[in-house]
Amino acid sequence: MDHPDARPVSRRGFLQSVCLVTAAGALTLRDAVSDELPRLDVKDPAAMAVGYVEHASEVNGKKYPAYVQGENCENCLQLQGQAGNNYRPCTLFPGKVVAITGWCSGWTAEM
Ligand code: SF4
Repeated sequence: MDHPDARPVSRRGFLQSVCLVTAAGALTLRDAVSDELPRLDVKDPAAMAVGYVEHASEVNGKKYPAYVQGENCENCLQLQGQAGNNYRPCTLFPGKVVAITGWCSGWTAEM
């Protein structure tokens, strides 16, 4: 005998449920990956080579005169990952995350 709440599941309903669960899992995995990556150290030689700072307000304007106030990692084309995270991957520094408030001379305007 069927449970009184048992209803037939349509193929469309089943596929929608699978898609929702898969999408939620992908977002969770992406967040977890960002959270697990180490933060880029400003003293890392690769970071120092491009003047990376965790706060764009700390940019050495004499050394990097091309810096324009308002530029930061969060509005840089190189930033990857999920919006809402304070530290996210950057294509310039594989395996690390950078502060969204940061900046380096690799800053590239979003298109
Ligand atoms: Fe930040 Fe862009 Fe430099 Fe990466 S390339 S550290 S996102 S400014």
